[in-house]
Amino acid sequence: MSGRTHDRACPERTCVGCRKRAAKNDLLRIVMIEDACVPDPRGTLPGRGAYVHPAPVCLDQAVRRRAFTRALRAPRALDTNALRRYVEQATVAEQATP
Ligand SMILES: [Zn+2]
Repeated sequence: MSGRTHDRACPERTCVGCRKRAAKNDLLRIVMIEDACVPDPRGTLPGRGAYVHPAPVCLDQAVRRRAFTRALRAPRALDTNALRRYVEQATVAEQATP
């Protein structure tokens, strides 16, 4: 047995909101486009990414700490309105799913 069968199948990232590690699949990737945080649920957009739980509480913590600005090496504060809308919708959709 090599002991590394499942390691690569489940990469982990740190949530910039609550700072907990989680499976990459459970986190939402965020990229910077111009001066805004943009959700990248498919993980296909180029550039540096930050990861956050798709939950308003984690988003709030990240915004309060300017974690996106730091994680994405933004030169100034980023607009998170579109990201917030996305997370709120994602949260509603998740609660509607049995
Ligand atoms: Zn989190």
